[in-house]
Amino acid sequence: MSRYWSDIVHRLTPYVPGEQPALAHPVKLNTNENPYPPSPRVLEAIRHELGETAETLRRYPDPTARQLRETVAAYHGIRVENVFAGNGSDEVLAMTFQALLKHDLPILFPDITYSFYPTYARLFEVDYRTVPVDDAFAIRVDDYTMPNGGVLLPNPNAPTGHPLPLAEIERLVARNAESVVVIDEAYVDFGAQSAIALIDRYPNLLVVHTVSKSRSLAGMRVGFAFGDPALIDALNRVKDSFNSYPLDRLAQAAAMAAYQDDAWFRDSCAKVIASRERLSAGLTALGFEVVPSGANFVFARHEGYDAATLTERLRDKEIFVRHFKAARIDQHLRISIGTDAECDALLAALQDILSAYVGWAAG
Ligand code: PMP
Repeated sequence: MSRYWSDIVHRLTPYVPGEQPALAHPVKLNTNENPYPPSPRVLEAIRHELGETAETLRRYPDPTARQLRETVAAYHGIRVENVFAGNGSDEVLAMTFQALLKHDLPILFPDITYSFYPTYARLFEVDYRTVPVDDAFAIRVDDYTMPNGGVLLPNPNAPTGHPLPLAEIERLVARNAESVVVIDEAYVDFGAQSAIALIDRYPNLLVVHTVSKSRSLAGMRVGFAFGDPALIDALNRVKDSFNSYPLDRLAQAAAMAAYQDDAWFRDSCAKVIASRERLSAGLTALGFEVVPSGANFVFARHEGYDAATLTERLRDKEIFVRHFKAARIDQHLRISIGTDAECDALLAALQDILSAYVGWAAG
């Protein structure tokens, strides 16, 4: 606290990202990173961009990331005018709050969802209401009917992994024609259908993507929004009032190369999905209840064991998972899908912990 702080800083509750442990070989299953490296073409593209002397870095990057946007537009069968690029999808979401979600009426998002949404709402002074998910963590589209300044939800949802069918998303978008509906598809490639197919028909639909998960480029910070050109224009107006060059040269080159290697992308998604099913079965065998997941993580609880304690015991073994101290989910663990070897290490550690700590079991 300091007297130099602005009012808004006094009132903020910043988002807390998952820990990045400074250990040589942690089993890191806490921030939904991809366990596999990006396509080898990414490294080639970065080397090519740098050249022998990194001479290109002398110059600013393309402020509109035009080539990257063209590549991604062609990939999704849409036009370049439908594509906005930002410094990670978190930044794209931040700009969306300012450009499209700040109105008189409150915006709506699920009570259990990505915890950055309420943080942005407070930062940008956007009023919001949360809409409860059902007991199985499903989002009920029929509950999003009150007049609103916008609707925002991830599909699949985070941190539950629960996916909604595309027909439900379409119903939500059609029913809220007076406001913008933002579908955050950070995890869509692991088990849901993208709503990009609907942007031509619904001028109020904005779909947000990232290269951090399915394209293994969390370290590069690249995200996109797809929608009607009027929505993209709004985002550009905010971007050009904030930072004209959000994507550096290496990020633009790397992301382009990632989209150009579709076989690599499909293969790494398939491996993550197969490991997810294997891990879910392993957790179920240990007595966990696992929410069916369409994402690169699972959300699981064990009736007899406190989730915060389990998280700590795993941490002692240098295995990192995510636990949220939040209503309705404080007995769950969110576990990112690692390689099969990492998932096996987690299962073995849990087995040890569960048998060694019968004493602290609640039930
Ligand atoms: N949306 C959701 C639902 C997420 O879980 C994340 C990752 N924490 C993001 C967006 C942001 O991802 P990034 O900024 O790496 O693109």
